Amino acid sequence: MCIDTHAHLDDSRFDDDVADVIGRAVEAGVSLIINPGSGLQASRRAVELGERFECVRAAAGISPHDIDDHSPDDWRQLDELARTAPIVAIGEIGLEYHYYKDAEHRKRQQEAFRRQLDLADELDLPVIIHCREAHADLRCILSERAAGRKLSGVVHCFSGTVADAAAYIHLGLLVSFTGIITFKKAEGVRKIASAIASDNLMLETDSPYMAPEGYRGRRCEPAHVIEVAGKLAEIHGLALADIGRITSGNARRLFRLEGSDEKPAVVYPIRDSLYVNLTNRCTNCCVFCPRETEPRVKGHWLGLEHEPTSDEVIDAIGDASSYNEVVFCGFGEPTLRLETLKQVARAVKQQGGRVRVNTNGHGSMIESYDIVPELAGLVDTVSVSLNTADEQQYVELCRPQRGVEAYRAMLDFIGRAVELLPGVYVTALDYPGVDVEACKSLAAELGAQFRCRKYRHLG
Ligand code: SF4
Repeated sequence: MCIDTHAHLDDSRFDDDVADVIGRAVEAGVSLIINPGSGLQASRRAVELGERFECVRAAAGISPHDIDDHSPDDWRQLDELARTAPIVAIGEIGLEYHYYKDAEHRKRQQEAFRRQLDLADELDLPVIIHCREAHADLRCILSERAAGRKLSGVVHCFSGTVADAAAYIHLGLLVSFTGIITFKKAEGVRKIASAIASDNLMLETDSPYMAPEGYRGRRCEPAHVIEVAGKLAEIHGLALADIGRITSGNARRLFRLEGSDEKPAVVYPIRDSLYVNLTNRCTNCCVFCPRETEPRVKGHWLGLEHEPTSDEVIDAIGDASSYNEVVFCGFGEPTLRLETLKQVARAVKQQGGRVRVNTNGHGSMIESYDIVPELAGLVDTVSVSLNTADEQQYVELCRPQRGVEAYRAMLDFIGRAVELLPGVYVTALDYPGVDVEACKSLAAELGAQFRCRKYRHLG
């Protein structure tokens, strides 16, 4: 299921068949549609549509295109509407410099934008931001406003650079992409979309504009958000269901929509594999790990309320052979629960499934004996987080409970795994200051395969 976070169903092009359009969206797998207002009348109409259709939520705002069409009384009425109607955001608001080169107009846009940011602050609502050719000014205004706190909102139909996206994300905002990412000549936009972690993304159509490839020149409608989701999934190497779940979760949390409560996952699918979340305990405390702050991966909440028993995990897995792999991972070190891990792995193997263990490689140190022979026959692949080729840097980045001993124990674990297990990967993050090439060379020396993971792209 997907959420179209930006569709102007209030547009006159939908007057004759809005119910059919919404019906087609639901049939295609769209669970909710956010209808922003681009002016007072459009916002009123969005609110009406929200009241009429169960899957539509309204936002209210005056867009930079429309600021000159509104009298002081219209602005007062917008304030009143925002305070009294069931809206989920203030928007769309923002800066449009492509069509307006005049400095005076741009100044008025900035004033209108700031005024509506004040309204959103006062009502504790997120904002839906339009920005075209104005990212420098937008970043400046938003940074000033944030003054160290996190903002809440989205830069919709994102047209900036990777650096712009990073700046908005740092401020607490999300970015969303339209059907533009499906256009044949939009390689640059796809490259930017691939650099942004999916945890910071949402989907939208911007209907009736921006119809995706295959529909260009025709009216865009919310059902087309599935094309946007498909392309984003392809760009990120994920399944369509993954992108739907991740971006819908992002939208539900941003707009505080129903279903935003997150339940801990004991097992969780990503792509064609099933992951097992045995524990949140770990013998490391890596500087880049969100285990204790926000343990979410690809739309799954991994903060456990209790550590599951082997029976609970085996039940939750179901038919292990229907997955490419069953992977012990989660936010925590699975070998801290070695007996449970072995029992579950045995059950998976009995069903003809494949087993991978993602580990920090401390298992033998934890147990004070060589655990690798016990994994042989139960585990097809281990993936060990090397993270750095330098033991002092390991201590700084991974902050192991047992200091440098943990790094040396990990290297011994990798060596034994290479001897006894069919597949051994070591991984490193492209974290600032990490010499990824040195990690790759060390992996080769140890006889393991190497994989570089992208910092901030979890899962
Ligand atoms: S080893 Fe993994 S789970 Fe443990 S702190 Fe580091 S990143 Fe988090």
